[in-house]
Amino acid sequence: MIPKETVQKILDTARVEEVVGDFVTLRKRGADLWACCPFHGEKTPSFHVIPSKGQYYCFGCHKGGSAVGFIMDYEHLSYVEALRYLARKYNIEIVEKEETAEDIANRQRNESLLLVSEYASNFFKEQLKTEEGRAVGLEYFHSRGLTDATIEKYGLGWAPSSRHALSDAAKAAGYKDEYLLETGLCATYEPDNSLHDRFYDRVVFPIHSMSGRVIAFGARTLKSKEAGKPYAKYVNSKESDIYVKNKSLYGIWFAKNEMARKDKCYLVEGYLDVLSMHQLGITNVVASSGTALTEGQIGLIKRFTQNVTIMYDGDSAGIHAALRGIDMFLREGMNVKVVLIPDGDDPDSYSRKHSLAEVEEFLAGAEMDFVDFKSSLLMKDTAKDPLKRAEMINDIADTIADIPDAVKRSVYVDFLSDKFEIRRDILDERIGATRSKRLIEEKKAADRERERRQN
Ligand SMILES: [Zn+2]
Repeated sequence: MIPKETVQKILDTARVEEVVGDFVTLRKRGADLWACCPFHGEKTPSFHVIPSKGQYYCFGCHKGGSAVGFIMDYEHLSYVEALRYLARKYNIEIVEKEETAEDIANRQRNESLLLVSEYASNFFKEQLKTEEGRAVGLEYFHSRGLTDATIEKYGLGWAPSSRHALSDAAKAAGYKDEYLLETGLCATYEPDNSLHDRFYDRVVFPIHSMSGRVIAFGARTLKSKEAGKPYAKYVNSKESDIYVKNKSLYGIWFAKNEMARKDKCYLVEGYLDVLSMHQLGITNVVASSGTALTEGQIGLIKRFTQNVTIMYDGDSAGIHAALRGIDMFLREGMNVKVVLIPDGDDPDSYSRKHSLAEVEEFLAGAEMDFVDFKSSLLMKDTAKDPLKRAEMINDIADTIADIPDAVKRSVYVDFLSDKFEIRRDILDERIGATRSKRLIEEKKAADRERERRQN
């Protein structure tokens, strides 16, 4: 915990114009400073900073507040996190109070795990400069259209083919076996329990936390499958105290500000989808790579925007994943749209074949509401069969039943009613029945859970 006096010292020391000035170019006009607002897109400045009052305010989007408030909004940090940020900026020491010995040990342990991950990330980056790294790793990234600037920015790297390149280097640099094992960077192998690298002979994609620290890695082999040999195209870090898979999204650190600014998030499947779209200039893109979409990941997106567009391949696996995603986002009360990439392309290959303007135009035009998406899928084989048509409408109505907000539900019922010329009251009846059925199921499940706990 930060002691009260230290909080006051941080608040007294932080100058709003200096704090904002780290992120925005401010120009003096009269006693105030002006800039184009970092929170909403604009061409003429309506964002101004009033040093004498220690405040900032935007006449366009009406965001305003103090230096701490700015950091909370801009960096999406909690109050305490923002205070810590400012303390670092102004070299104010925080002497934590009332931390138990266990708290301290945990904090130090987590920091050690983060430090060894950072070391590994730098190691893999450096390996791109070796002969092997250049010939295989760098060659691969270039062949996928990634520029050196992108490779550098996203920290892409090469894990050498030797099975203990990283462990040897890390140990020589003073990192403990314990942390190399806990982060899953290394594992011990029989018969002598020696330390071996988890990632070798692969290109490496570091995964960043919400605050920009490296917490894990995804690594892809460039070898093709050989008969009789075990084969995994991707290997990912195992879970640890710093890496919880279902609460991480690839690209979130680089995407979060733009997600908030555009009030929209594109969800794609793979590392390369994120990288190619970011490189093209569309940076509000993240991937759930490595896992099927989870509620924890949806929670992360929700911190920045309520609007998500699922952008998957148009193949059957992509469609299946999109359908599952739609239901999950709707249940969380979010607004969800879908874009299917045509003709065997994925977001990565599509972004590489087209200009920014073309991709933006495509996205704007191809974005489908979930009702349209579901009906276009189901319509293909149901057009002439009245029974199947009824099943499809019921299926869409059941999806609408997942939406928590009554007004939104009602808007979708109107939409569905118009689209298929079905009377509203019939749809309402179906949705009402589905909702009460689900409520009863949920209540039963909760009761069972309570009983289980009591026993
Ligand atoms: Zn604004």
